[in-house]
Amino acid sequence: MTARILVVDDVAANRRLLEARLRAEYFEVSQAASGAEAIAMALSWSPDIILLDVMMPVMDGFECCRLMKADPATQHIPVVMVTALVDTDERVRGLEAGADDFLSKPVGEATLLSRLRALLRVKQVTDAWRLRQNTARELGLEAQPPLALALEGTRALLLRTDRAEVELLGGMLAADGISLLNGGDEAHARQLLAGGGFDLVLLSLREPDTEALRFASSLRASAATRDLPLLLVGDPGQQAQILRGFDLGANDHVLRPVDANELRARVRNQIRRRRFQESLQNDLDRSLEMAVTDPLTGLRNRRYVRRHLDGLLRAGKGAAALLVDVDYFKRINDGFGHASGDQVLQEIALRMQDELRASDVIGRYGGEEFLMVLVTAAEEEVMAVAARLQSAVADKPFRLGDQRVSITISTGVAIATTDTTSDALISAADTALYRAKRAGRDRVELANDADLSGPTSAAAAAF
Ligand SMILES: [Mg+2]
Repeated sequence: MTARILVVDDVAANRRLLEARLRAEYFEVSQAASGAEAIAMALSWSPDIILLDVMMPVMDGFECCRLMKADPATQHIPVVMVTALVDTDERVRGLEAGADDFLSKPVGEATLLSRLRALLRVKQVTDAWRLRQNTARELGLEAQPPLALALEGTRALLLRTDRAEVELLGGMLAADGISLLNGGDEAHARQLLAGGGFDLVLLSLREPDTEALRFASSLRASAATRDLPLLLVGDPGQQAQILRGFDLGANDHVLRPVDANELRARVRNQIRRRRFQESLQNDLDRSLEMAVTDPLTGLRNRRYVRRHLDGLLRAGKGAAALLVDVDYFKRINDGFGHASGDQVLQEIALRMQDELRASDVIGRYGGEEFLMVLVTAAEEEVMAVAARLQSAVADKPFRLGDQRVSITISTGVAIATTDTTSDALISAADTALYRAKRAGRDRVELANDADLSGPTSAAAAAF
């Protein structure tokens, strides 16, 4: 795993020592000698991880970390505080400044690499989402601002432990509104996790506990629990096991006796990180939804319906295309204004949607044209749907201001035979639609075999 590491320390010898060790592991390394320089480098060099000395003149590590975590441009970069202090209060201060992890000086080789790998795994996931979010933004799709962190109602699961520990840790987390449930044995825990609704898993390690580590690794292997933060609870003598846990996918750990403030700060950071990933994902879902939706009618757009039709034809399940055009739509726009025209399109969209089954897809194809894709090739059934659409529009006048206006539609229907492409099917529906228009409008025409195989009609201009 190659990555960029920024080493921040006011003492040059410390920077050089860490740099040499990281380079030996093929990391790319840069150095910063002060907090201000670190912030500048975080912005200009985009490191994957920042190793941040706590004791520095002018701006100390806490302040530097707080500033980077407050800036949307740098807040996603994991910060590991490197400190000679082992005092719990100092650790909690660092966690509250947003630090993702701690290493104590002198930094042990195994610990350093195992922590870096754990943080890099998480950052890869976040980066993938950030990248997709940027793509969506470049396409002009708006992203939502990140949500504030609300812990109230968060659920965490504690595994492989006794009731006393559940009560002890549960009491600590309750102060933040987090409820801690006893996961019980492995089978029970899996069942609970499959039900969803958890934001964090705590895994208790007891001497020597290979079962727990096997479980940690299985959580990472399953898609449903892969991104759940995993925090180990261990004894001071279990360092080797904890490091192994990090290699298997744990995100953080606390040691017994557990300090309430440290546990709460670590849990908060893990949940903050998870919420951040979730908000990136939700942004993306919203962007995708926007990318396939017609903003005026809320129907699927042309691109989506065509893709859907391609898929159906490939699956060979039988498909029919209905191309619907509003008759004399120009008269509505000219006579009542474009706002009324839009209103008519919205109303027609609603009325047609009511006539379709859940498996049918309806989209706005452009202007006053709609394209429906039905999952059937049975002519009688398809023509019955087309007839229902005609009546749904024609039978009830549209209210425009204080007037009631009768509006009709014309429909071209094409039913796929073996080997029909989506282009050929839509083009055949278009030819049939043209016939319906010429035959006086307010009617349905079915494409024939010649339409399906013949050259495309360039008749749209005549409508
Ligand atoms: Mg220092």
